[in-house]
Amino acid sequence: MHNFEIIFVNDSFSRSGILKTRRGEVKTPTFMPDGTRGVVKSLTAEQVKSVGIDIVLANTYHLHLMPGEAVVKKLGGVHGFGKWQGPILTDSGGFQVFSLSKLRKITEEGVTFKHPVTGEMRQITPEKSIQIQLELGADMIVAFDHLTGLDEKSRDKTREAFDRTHRWLERCVTEFKRLTKDMKAADRPLLFGVVQGGLDLDLRKKSLALVQASGVDGIAIGGLSVGETQEEMFKVLEALAPHYDPNRPHFLLGVGTPSDLRFAFEHGIDMADCVLPTRNARHATVWGENDEIMHLTNAKYIEDTLPIQEGCDCYACANGYSRGFLRHQFKVGEPLAGSLASIHNLRYLQRIAESYRK
Ligand SMILES: [Zn+2]
Repeated sequence: MHNFEIIFVNDSFSRSGILKTRRGEVKTPTFMPDGTRGVVKSLTAEQVKSVGIDIVLANTYHLHLMPGEAVVKKLGGVHGFGKWQGPILTDSGGFQVFSLSKLRKITEEGVTFKHPVTGEMRQITPEKSIQIQLELGADMIVAFDHLTGLDEKSRDKTREAFDRTHRWLERCVTEFKRLTKDMKAADRPLLFGVVQGGLDLDLRKKSLALVQASGVDGIAIGGLSVGETQEEMFKVLEALAPHYDPNRPHFLLGVGTPSDLRFAFEHGIDMADCVLPTRNARHATVWGENDEIMHLTNAKYIEDTLPIQEGCDCYACANGYSRGFLRHQFKVGEPLAGSLASIHNLRYLQRIAESYRK
C-alpha cells in the first residue's frame, strides 16, 4: 500500500500521517464535515477550506435520490457540482438506507426501499452502491454494508448482518475491480471496507481481520454512534486499536463530539465524519472553552460582547462576531448566524485533530 504514509506514531495508538488521493493529500488525523447533498450546508468551499479541512464527505443515498448521479456527473461530478476541488469521500448509502428509508426490505441481493419523494421502489445492491459512487466521481468510496444497532430489535441481528456485510464486501471489491481495471493507479479512487459486529468485541475483531484480508485500500469502522452509550463505543474502539493494519487509513464513520474524537484519535483512528458540528451550529449550539455546550439563543448572551470562544482562530471568532450579535441573528432567523457558527464548530473539531499531528 502506497497511499498512506505514516509520519509519526505516538506511544499510544495515535498516529499522524498523509493520505494520498487522486485529488491531493489529506493530513491526518482529520475531521471530515458532511456535505450531505454535495455541499457542507450553508458554507462555500472557500469557507470550508478556511477551517483547515482537506476533505469532505458526500452522501450517496441523498445524491442518488436527488438529483441522481447522472445529473451530478453532467454538472461536473461531485467536485464540479459543489465546487469543492479537494478530495471527496462518499459513503455507501447504507447508513441512510437503514436509518431513513421507509418500507425497506433486506435480502441477500440488496436493500429495497421507497423513494421518500416519488414513492417509487428503489434497490441498492453492493454493486449498485459502487457504481453510483464511481459515477459521482468520489476519490474515496465505501463498500455497502448491512448496518444494525439502530434499535434493540436490529441488535439481535448482529450476527446475520456481520455475515452479510462480508459477503457484500466481496461483491463490492469485485465490482470495484471490474469498473476501475482500466484506470492508472494514480487515477483510481480508494475503496474502504466497513467493519461491523455491533457491540460484540469478538465479532468486531473478526470483521476487522476479514476486511483487512479483502484487499481494500482503507478500513472504515461502521455501526457506532447509533444509539449505544459512549462507554460501549469506546470499548469497541479499544478492542480494535491493536489490530489495525498500520499501513492503511482508519476511518470512523459518523462520530463527532469532541470527547469521541479525542478517544478515537488516541485509538488508531485517522479520519472521522459527522453531521453534528454543522447541524448543531445551525440550531445555535456551539462548543466553547473545554467543550462547554453553548446555546447561543440563551437570553444570557443578549449583551455579551465576547466571541463564541476567546482565542479561537476561526473566521467568526477572529473577526469578533459577538455572542450578542449571533444571538440576535439566530433569533430573527438570519442564515449568516448558522454559517458563522458552523465555521466555528468545524474549526473547533479540526483543532482537536491537528493537536494529534506532528
Ligand atoms: Zn471560533
